[in-house]
Amino acid sequence: MVTASGTLDADVLIEGERIAAVAARVPGVPLSFTVDRIIDATGKYVLPGGIDVHTHMEMPFGGTFSADTFETGTRAAAWGGTTTIIDFAVQAKGTSLLATLDNWHDKADGNCSVDYGFHMIVSDVNDQTLKEMESCVAAGVNSFKMFMAYPGVFYATDGEILLAMQQAARIGATVMMHAENGIAIDQLVAQAIAEGHTSPVYHGISRPPELEGEATSRAITLAKVANCPLYIVHLSARHALEAVAAARDTGQNVFAETCPQYLYLSIEDLARPDFEGSKFVCSPPLRPRDHQASLWAGLRTNDLSVVSTDHCPFCFKGQKELGRGDFSKIPNGMPGVEHRMDLLHQGVAAGELSLARWVEVASTTPARMFGLYPRKGVIAAGADADVVIYDPAARQTLSAATHHMNVDYSAYEGMEITGRVETVLSRGSFVIDGGAYVGSPGHGQFLARAENGYLL
Ligand SMILES: [Zn+2]
Repeated sequence: MVTASGTLDADVLIEGERIAAVAARVPGVPLSFTVDRIIDATGKYVLPGGIDVHTHMEMPFGGTFSADTFETGTRAAAWGGTTTIIDFAVQAKGTSLLATLDNWHDKADGNCSVDYGFHMIVSDVNDQTLKEMESCVAAGVNSFKMFMAYPGVFYATDGEILLAMQQAARIGATVMMHAENGIAIDQLVAQAIAEGHTSPVYHGISRPPELEGEATSRAITLAKVANCPLYIVHLSARHALEAVAAARDTGQNVFAETCPQYLYLSIEDLARPDFEGSKFVCSPPLRPRDHQASLWAGLRTNDLSVVSTDHCPFCFKGQKELGRGDFSKIPNGMPGVEHRMDLLHQGVAAGELSLARWVEVASTTPARMFGLYPRKGVIAAGADADVVIYDPAARQTLSAATHHMNVDYSAYEGMEITGRVETVLSRGSFVIDGGAYVGSPGHGQFLARAENGYLL
């Protein structure tokens, strides 16, 4: 068994939907439980199910929708050993938070193979929105994402951010921030297009890491003034990491996640010829390769606490192609929900992360950070029986031909992986059993979440 606190040679007893007991093995002493099925995981890792706190299933963006539905996306998540997702409900301007939440419940209800929760994207800060934040918390949604990027769409001014942060602080919620200076970026984008620089790599060039660092610092300052817990989403740049580390050193409630694409891919992928670079367009953009070592180090020092995917898939054909001749029209987002556990396991194999830290950043900390602990994120008596059996010696090659996400390319096409998910249980039910999907789309339940478990 691998947990955030280390490894243990143990038996795990599951009764119904819960873990009933964990019993350390004593050499020569046989198993004393009477059970109706034994899963032999000898030589494999037994992990708490992965928790991906950043997904966008069927999300509207730029006149299209991300290609995975809750049904296809949660099935792909299960294939990759993720048994909980937290997806983003998206408030459109002029609509209410509660109507938005109802809408997202309708999309997910009855369609998910694994359990799910919601964050709320706040894009229209007004008196009603601020009031409704409190109702969202009562409805089990106590994290609110805001954007310093995308002017005219999701962008909030510093004043609006401050108001929402003050309200979040009052009601025990966390503000999540997309920290890029979108006002400055829009100027750089317009300049690039005017100069005829329309290919995908200019998506990266027009969003320099300094503007992520600046926005991250500004968000941290606003959160400090509002006394509000802050969680920086999809941190990609060393500049932003330095701002987070400095704030954490002062004891401020500032947290951050990164994503596998920032650990493994780079702006060189955005520069692939024949519009292939469009497959790698996401925001913040993929960075020069030298940022990767800083991100791995940040994961070790806990300045980066979580690895999520920002799973937001758009097919190359018909969706990414909307931006041929103008990179600013390429839908932003990449597929990834299926491969997070595997890609992080490569970090273990490469000596970047310990086994325990792998489980911590992929499951235990996400559970604590978003109010699901100790129901999720741990293998212990009383916890939900979300259990993954992982074969660390198996080999696989990532490919669109074999993945289960509803998208026509893989960002990691041809990458060889050491390790593979073998069996997945969600609340005691098999979802993946010996390499086959045996789940059902109505199994996954909505998770009402409590307060961030890390607040000082
Ligand atoms: Zn996102």
